[in-house]
Amino acid sequence: MAKHRITLIPGDGIGPEVSLATQRCIEATGVSVEWETVHAGADMMETAGTPLPDNVIASIRKNKIAIKGPITTPIGSGFRSVNVALRKELDLFACLRPCKSYPGITACHSLIDLIIVRENTEDLYAGIEFEANSPEANALVAKIRELDPKARFNPHPAISIKPISQAATERIVRFAFETAIANKRKKVTAVHKANIMKCSDGLFLRTAREVASRYEGRIQFEDRIVDNMCMQLVQRPREYDVVVLPNLYGDIISDLCAGLIGGLGVAPGANIGDTVALFEATHGSAPKYKGLNKANPTAMILSGMLMLRHLGEIAAADRLEGAVAKVLAEGRSVTYDLKADRYDKTAVGTSQMADAIIKVIKG
Ligand code: NAD
Repeated sequence: MAKHRITLIPGDGIGPEVSLATQRCIEATGVSVEWETVHAGADMMETAGTPLPDNVIASIRKNKIAIKGPITTPIGSGFRSVNVALRKELDLFACLRPCKSYPGITACHSLIDLIIVRENTEDLYAGIEFEANSPEANALVAKIRELDPKARFNPHPAISIKPISQAATERIVRFAFETAIANKRKKVTAVHKANIMKCSDGLFLRTAREVASRYEGRIQFEDRIVDNMCMQLVQRPREYDVVVLPNLYGDIISDLCAGLIGGLGVAPGANIGDTVALFEATHGSAPKYKGLNKANPTAMILSGMLMLRHLGEIAAADRLEGAVAKVLAEGRSVTYDLKADRYDKTAVGTSQMADAIIKVIKG
């Protein structure tokens, strides 16, 4: 059996605990893996002087496949997001977030099986921002007034720029259609606010329609305005299949969908580029649970399951997903957040939930 060389970034906060649980569950499937563990995050500031040392990027580039625990981003000041930097540096242009209901999890809907495809490289996340009253923001306001005399500003605005390009939109929409085909799905829905942002979201919608025309007869296509989409997803999530969105709407709607299936603790994800794929849970580093063996490992274990599928290890992925589903359905050996009562004394820890999953895998 071919050995897979995989970069493992444990992350910080609850990252190392959920990463270890995931590593153990993947190994239990019998897949042959050689882990290359490298470290990024807040803890590296002290030893390496940067939260993202060069060897992390080098390892991912070399192995082309990585799985990562969550990494803390300081709010308002301090270093920029390691997560955003990794996506940019490795051109991981697609964020894939399957949202699937598993019996046993308390959620407002059942039988949901949606795939969210979020554009990862542009939009308001491009990081082009100008502080209120800075010379740059003032110069920009003056330039915009020169270009568009009708432009109205309140005094001294902070400005964030929202670039949307045809090339990036075409790439992400094509990715959504190819994902639909690979997963035997029927429909792609593009989400936008083209009625208001006629230039940026207008371009996104026109490009999505053009790409969709190439798949006519194979995959259905429709579009929705983002506010309406939020309501539709809350009321009728089963009507949707593959949903493709620009970066910011994708970020918000993927969390909304995680909420629909039972919360961040069970929502896996992947960031995918042309040559490299990085798998990670949707949730963050939950610093208050660091080192307590309390965090729910499901989202990260299911991210590992997506990684096995990506590697073509379909039987192992099915076994892992089946074992997670069984443990969730039984509802006994699960973490506190999956119990009906969060203070239920029968809740188990992160590593004990992994033990239960491994026991099912090994039959
Ligand atoms: P969070 O996801 O860490 O926590 C949100 C809530 O969910 C908290 O109440 C937390 O305790 C709970 N929670 C999260 N994961 C859980 C799990 N596995 N089991 C049980 N409960 C869980 O989001 P936040 O508080 O907004 O962010 C904390 C830090 O994580 C921030 O620094 C943020 O920037 C970072 N973050 C990182 C990533 C990533 O690495 N991809 C993603 C999101 C946030």
